[in-house]
Amino acid sequence: MTIATNVLEKDKNLLFGHMTNMGHEQVVFCHDQETGLKAIIAVHSTVLGPALGGTRMWNYANDAEALNDVLRLSRGMTYKASISGLNLGGGKAVIIGDAKTEKTDDLMRKFGSFVDSLSGRYITAEDVGMTTHDMEMVKMETNHVTGIPESMGGSGNPSPVTAYGVYMGMKAAAKTRWGSDALEGKKVLVQGIGHVGEVLVDHLTKEGALVTVNDISLERMEEVAKKYNADFLEGDAIYDADMDIYAPCALGATVNSDTLKRLKCSVIAGAANNQLADEEIHGKMVMDKGILYAPDFLINAGGLINVYSELEGYNREEALAKTEHIYNVTLEIFNLSKTEGITPNQAAKHMAEKRIADKVAGLGLIK
Ligand code: NAD
Repeated sequence: MTIATNVLEKDKNLLFGHMTNMGHEQVVFCHDQETGLKAIIAVHSTVLGPALGGTRMWNYANDAEALNDVLRLSRGMTYKASISGLNLGGGKAVIIGDAKTEKTDDLMRKFGSFVDSLSGRYITAEDVGMTTHDMEMVKMETNHVTGIPESMGGSGNPSPVTAYGVYMGMKAAAKTRWGSDALEGKKVLVQGIGHVGEVLVDHLTKEGALVTVNDISLERMEEVAKKYNADFLEGDAIYDADMDIYAPCALGATVNSDTLKRLKCSVIAGAANNQLADEEIHGKMVMDKGILYAPDFLINAGGLINVYSELEGYNREEALAKTEHIYNVTLEIFNLSKTEGITPNQAAKHMAEKRIADKVAGLGLIK
């Protein structure tokens, strides 16, 4: 615990200070000598239901970076579940280490037993650095895991449902910006054509949008561009390109002070989490530039809606119908943003927080 001690020496209120600022209920540090497991489970809120959120394995530079990530991501899950009308709270787990070299079946099973020790207050799922096989190991130790393969009776890959929600959010943004939700003839740049990006490209090209794709993998770009008769653009030239809609579907923080100097789009709507490098600063800069930003945690909630459905007995049609509703909520958020003079991101957070506050008031819970 030398590193943690040093961090705590620098910032003596590191733990409860962060939890108080961000409103977390519980943070669990998990350690196992034998397997080398080092994990943090953050339960941000259980007001609306059990805290659900994936497990990420990442080679964090230090414990403070891991803690920061899990606290931020778990709070994001609370907002995402709340605004999507799900009876779920928000949580997340991080495992510290290199997923390629340090992950073993025993380590994942040990992690599963820690999840189980929370008796359902936290439900886990797959995230960055996790595979279906890892989730099978977790499932051997706990039932509090979701997003399992269809072959095991689960809901399978959530990405097509996520892509459908992003498509709905994009259409709502088009309706607000141009008065019609038709995307035919609109120039859309999709950055990152992975599991979500490719399905989004499929929806867009079927509707007649003029799609340009971008990915760090040239092979992937060429393959997808050919399949959907789309154009492709390499590297960060995308930020100078002529486009109506920018759809970030790769990494977070691509909407930042540098890219905002260059971006010429009218709408930003994509799947990536935490697109705004700084929610307040860049949310405001986007608005001042006259760009309409569809909040990421709202329009990329299809995957969460899909795994939630698994908890209740999976039905893909129902999950898709609920995901379609993202269209209406996105319109509502843009209206709220306009009438209140706040950014769409702030409006979305207010709506999510209000649902939680109403539940607290209704249940007579102590806040
Ligand atoms: P993925 O790993 O399948 O695809 C990501 C793609 O982005 C890959 O093709 C990768 O090569 C490309 N990429 C990586 N860095 C890039 C860069 N700098 N520039 C251009 N391309 C780059 O991931 P995914 O499941 O499609 O998810 C995409 C994003 O959406 C992620 O940010 C993820 O966190 C978020 N998201 C996904 C889901 C889901 O259901 N899969 C749900 C919510 C949010």
